Amino acid sequence: MKFIGAHVSAAGGVDKAVIRAHELAATAFALFTKNQRQWHAAPLTTEVIAAFRAACEKYHFTSQQILPHDSYLINLGHPVTEALEKSRAAFIDEMSRCQQLGLSLLNFHPGSHLQQIDEHTCLQRIAASINLALENTTGVTAVIENTAGQGSNLGFRFEHLAAIIDGVDDKSRVGVCIDTCHAFASGYDLRSEKDCEETFAEFDRIVGFNYLRGMHLNDAKSEFNSRVDRHNSLGEGNIGQTAFRWIMKNPRFDGIPLILETIDPTIWKDEIAWLKSEQHA
Ligand SMILES: [Zn+2]
Ligand SMILES: [Zn+2]
Repeated sequence: MKFIGAHVSAAGGVDKAVIRAHELAATAFALFTKNQRQWHAAPLTTEVIAAFRAACEKYHFTSQQILPHDSYLINLGHPVTEALEKSRAAFIDEMSRCQQLGLSLLNFHPGSHLQQIDEHTCLQRIAASINLALENTTGVTAVIENTAGQGSNLGFRFEHLAAIIDGVDDKSRVGVCIDTCHAFASGYDLRSEKDCEETFAEFDRIVGFNYLRGMHLNDAKSEFNSRVDRHNSLGEGNIGQTAFRWIMKNPRFDGIPLILETIDPTIWKDEIAWLKSEQHA
């Protein structure tokens, strides 16, 4: 079974995100549990936590259908100690918020070396940051997202994801989320069925499908291998519809949140309906 949805707004409270997902006829959703552009947020109140859990129950979303995303400010591979510590503390707070909400996944971008440390050192720092977060929380899996490789962001090669996983002590609580736009922009072709077969065979060889905890389904305004992160609506970009059809028919993508972060929320409902229809087409 496929779980399909979008990254919905949590404006007005995290429980409102659940209702927005329901209104899209989604079977999955993503959300920020706090403002993604600020370091600090008020702790979740017992009322908000109860409202979120009740909404999930009412609209039939279990934690395996929900893929929360952390703040864009966090850099778990930061080269400077003080900034690294600030990021690590914020990440533990994000993991704790997920735990309080009864969520089992937290999606995040691995980190950036900022041209100050080498890739290997940065990847090791990210793994150490994950270990720290896992030690300080329970029940939440850290889900590393592949990136487009803009600037000094790591995670644009499957080997980066594998190296981070390699450094994580508790392999049962680490996973990955593959963003199709980011993969395409970082040189993994998805334009034809053959390209999809090859890209995901490589993914399986380097990382392993057993670590796949979610997908971001985005077409790309970015050119192939451009290392530029620009999303587009499905079928409107340089990837095209074939990849999304291929994913919808492939049982290896069952049972995990498949999340749209496409650029036009007014057509999310149609995009979700189209993806659902392609499952059995
Ligand atoms: Zn993404
Ligand atoms: Zn992106």
